[in-house]
Amino acid sequence: MSISTSVLSDLLQALPHLRPQLYFKASLTALSHAMEDQVLAATLEQPLVIANFQRERFYRQEAHRYQRLAQISNQIYVLSAPETDFANSSEYYEKIAFEPDDPLSQEWHLVVIAQNYATCLVCRESVGSLAKHKQIREVASSLDMDAARRFEGIWTAERGVSLKAAEFLLQRILTYRPELTDKVEQAKQRLGIGTTEGQELSTPEQNNEYACDIDTNPFVQRLVTYLQASQYKLHKAYRSISAQARKERLVNSISTAIRRSLDPQEVLKVAAQELGQNMAASRCLIYRAQATDSKATIEHEFLNNGLVSVLGKKWPLANNPLFQSVVQDGEGICVTDVIHEPRVTGSRELWRLVEKFAIRSWLIEPVLFQGRLLGIVELHYCTEVPHEWQTGEVDMVKAIATHLGSALIQAEAYANLEDLNQQLEALDRTRSNLIAITGHELRTPLSTIQVCLESLSTEPDMPPELRQVMLNTALSDSERMRKLVQDFLTLSNLESGRVEWHPESLTLKECIDLSLSRVNTRVVQEQLPEITTDVAKKLPLVKADGDWLVEVLAKLIDNACKFTPSGGQIKISAHLNKQHMVEVTVADTGRGIEPNRLEVVFDRFYQEEGALRRTAGGTGLGLAICRQIVIGWGGEIWAKSSGKDQGSEFHFTIPVFEGSQGQKRSKVNSN
Ligand code: ADP
Repeated sequence: MSISTSVLSDLLQALPHLRPQLYFKASLTALSHAMEDQVLAATLEQPLVIANFQRERFYRQEAHRYQRLAQISNQIYVLSAPETDFANSSEYYEKIAFEPDDPLSQEWHLVVIAQNYATCLVCRESVGSLAKHKQIREVASSLDMDAARRFEGIWTAERGVSLKAAEFLLQRILTYRPELTDKVEQAKQRLGIGTTEGQELSTPEQNNEYACDIDTNPFVQRLVTYLQASQYKLHKAYRSISAQARKERLVNSISTAIRRSLDPQEVLKVAAQELGQNMAASRCLIYRAQATDSKATIEHEFLNNGLVSVLGKKWPLANNPLFQSVVQDGEGICVTDVIHEPRVTGSRELWRLVEKFAIRSWLIEPVLFQGRLLGIVELHYCTEVPHEWQTGEVDMVKAIATHLGSALIQAEAYANLEDLNQQLEALDRTRSNLIAITGHELRTPLSTIQVCLESLSTEPDMPPELRQVMLNTALSDSERMRKLVQDFLTLSNLESGRVEWHPESLTLKECIDLSLSRVNTRVVQEQLPEITTDVAKKLPLVKADGDWLVEVLAKLIDNACKFTPSGGQIKISAHLNKQHMVEVTVADTGRGIEPNRLEVVFDRFYQEEGALRRTAGGTGLGLAICRQIVIGWGGEIWAKSSGKDQGSEFHFTIPVFEGSQGQKRSKVNSN
């Protein structure tokens, strides 16, 4: 079967005065529907209607209308390229199935001819319209892109043009359905198609003669309805595009803030501002909260002019039914009107907030990370008319909350990392210090021992007294080394938590006595300062590890003895303090400590004279060990002194043994 040329081209060639125009598919649909409705509404006698739908799928959407048209006239012809079951038939109206590659498949035709009425739509789809359409779809997927397909062609009510179009189309119909020749001939004759009489009627004046007794109202009304409908669709599409764009802008600005700063405060501040502004909210609050918190402090706020700020205020959480629901369900809540929300009206606490801060509509969205609550985003509308929450808005807040969740975790992880880094650096510094100091501390006595032993071995004739001096020096320095190593190990064990604690109920007085006897055995040859004790009567039992408690006391008393001249005094006292802890004080009248040294004396290897000029012996680790021990049982230790030569006081606290009132005594090692 020979494939013909385009009907539009034929028409333009036959009637060169015609100027084709551009039409979007949406307009053609509106026009076609209006033309068909006009036929249905007007009382036309057996109108001829020829419609070409390009492809079967487009025809299907309209098939029912053509069944209605078929009730008015038996001269209805419907053309389409078949896709599934569209085939030549004469059931309700004449169906003409043309070849898929017939130029007809690129064209859209609708021709209506009656005795006193004629109109036609002859268009051809612009080449590349679909390809462009695909590109546009990528840009704005929410627009109804099919409606943007473009056609060029003629839409007119000129009778002459309509007759010519009908003539061309009827010719095509006959090439596919020659058996319809008689029927087509009848229509042509009746309506003057293909005759010179018909073509003479192509001037506008003559046209008007025919058109005047037709009521064009239904046509116009339908057209307006269709236009309105497409306008509405367009509006909707634009609204959703602009909502999408708004969301993207917002998410972008918050992501930028997250990228720029790892400071969560900065990120939350930007998020509150952007979200509040974007949502045109009266107030947007962002605060950190955990599921078990009873209160939160409002840290970030976006506030519309003239409203009461809640920044820095405490926000109830424990007795806040909205917050509790959010925690329980892990889902946000949006309240359109607080007046109709029983969780708000039924809570005195929430109603107080509503009244004080004029909240009318309320949205609470959790900031979660892997199910863990990190914070809350709140939006308030303080308007006369309650705010109707749109799905898009709620989704946007959710998206932002999700972003904030990851940002907060990221910032937290970073902060932890920073902390760890600092700890590592501190550890590294300590390690280097330790190596340097321990090396030095050990080398000094070791060299002395070495010198003494060398002298002893190389000088066999050394007088016995000098020999004795050498031996004593070597012995005392090796003892110093032993102590140093022991203290160092003790401190390392305490600091690394490798010590096992055996807390028991103890009588403090006995521990003091034990430590005093230990001091006395250690410093036999020296003249000690006077030592007195003043322990409050009825002092409760303390709860501590006995060995370690004696160790602390002995070290403090040792120090007091070391730094107090023999004529001085040392006083050991104990009382129950306001925190219900037993506070022990070892005070002396010795050389005192400068105020700016009161803290550092607890650092390891701190010695006022410096390691090289040590006169009083000791390792410089005693107070560091005491501090670790006291912290271990939950107490505190501190030093007081009015300055040089003003004496010193060392205080430490021990928890009280909460239990038997009896003076139960545990055995304390006395080694
Ligand atoms: P040391 O083994 O040197 O005594 P400590 O850690 O026990 O080490 O003490 C650290 C430093 O604190 C001492 O070297 C001394 O300078 C200061 N100090 C400790 N106790 C007293 C005290 N009772 N009076 C004055 N200074 C003291």
